[in-house]
Amino acid sequence: MSVQTINILIISGLGLFGLISLMRFFPDKSTGRNLSKANQYDERDTMFARNNIRHYPDLMETYYTMHPENESTDRQIHQKPEFGEKEQVYHNAYTAPCYEAAFEYLEKSIPLSTGAAAKQKISIDPIKFCKTITDISKFYGAGDVGFLQLKSHHFYSHKGRHAEKWGNKTDQAHKTAVVIIIPMRVKMIKKGPASCVIQESAQKYVEAAKISNILATYIRRFGYRARAHNDANYDTLCVPIAVEAGLGELGRMGILIHRVHGPCVRLAIVTTDLELPDSACPKPLYMEEFCKICKKCADNCPSGSITHDNEPYSRNFRHWSIHQKKCFSYWKTIGSDCGFCISVCPYTKPDTLIHKFVRFYISRNTLNQKIALFMDDLLYGRHRKIAKANPENIFIQT
Ligand code: SF4
Ligand code: SF4
Repeated sequence: MSVQTINILIISGLGLFGLISLMRFFPDKSTGRNLSKANQYDERDTMFARNNIRHYPDLMETYYTMHPENESTDRQIHQKPEFGEKEQVYHNAYTAPCYEAAFEYLEKSIPLSTGAAAKQKISIDPIKFCKTITDISKFYGAGDVGFLQLKSHHFYSHKGRHAEKWGNKTDQAHKTAVVIIIPMRVKMIKKGPASCVIQESAQKYVEAAKISNILATYIRRFGYRARAHNDANYDTLCVPIAVEAGLGELGRMGILIHRVHGPCVRLAIVTTDLELPDSACPKPLYMEEFCKICKKCADNCPSGSITHDNEPYSRNFRHWSIHQKKCFSYWKTIGSDCGFCISVCPYTKPDTLIHKFVRFYISRNTLNQKIALFMDDLLYGRHRKIAKANPENIFIQT
């Protein structure tokens, strides 16, 4: 065979490979979720709520009468050190009060999430209003914004985070949700599960509260009811709203994988009685298909909270969700919200040109996904080591 023939064969092979890489082909295409019969989730069942009730014997009695199956493991979790206590693995006496101060600030800012609407209703052009809301949110630091008409399964059934309102029905009167995405710093999250993660989370929850509170106030000035939902102050579930608004897909680790920032984001919601159009549905990126083969979060989760199996059914529909008790128990042991699953996820990458290309490449077909996963394992490793202590500098400046 002549050199010329070999060259033609190589070039043709590369051309064919390039062509296949561009083809969109998913034989086992995601079937979509049937949410029409989804049950509402009760906020009292979240681990945060179940951890908080340890201070209220009457609430404990009510809850464990309803859910005796949770009592014994919850009591074990109640015995573990609280966030900020020196027994926790990643405790740092100088820096722990910083995230505690941020969460105290968030608690004190809850009254800013609601308020009376202006008496005079101003008529608005919905399309122009959505664009302005998007611009304002991004101006104040949001990475992405979406809109969705609310359905019953987007609301918690009952409140669970604060003793004084524990067990009250949530307010489900609003019609539209504005979803706000706040990207976290990849460098901070990559230090997970060390204390950098809880510091970064706290800082981004503060940002999320700031943006959502301003936005709710902005909408109220037009004479419409609006309420911000942010850390420990929710009537709505952020993840399903963000997924259905087309901002990303549901990952194996049970949280949003944003179209650009992957799972490395925090969310806030503003709901309003104003009817606004849903965001235009973007093309799927087949992240959920990638999750089926990747399983990196499940391989690395230190508490074994993430399944290696296909999406299970719960609350009457098929969706991934983590083992809350194991995950939260680990958080209390280490004194950080861990985020190791977010840290190892191949979608947690800075938004550089090369990573934009990789996201596009992954969205084309299963072969590309397998090649991308192989490369991710090769370059970053499949199993990451967990640091025994915090890095010297917890607040990484980027
Ligand atoms: S680590 Fe892999 S399996 Fe887990 S959420 Fe990310 S892409 Fe999906
Ligand atoms: S936060 Fe940590 S413990 Fe919880 S699911 Fe993710 S990796 Fe596992």
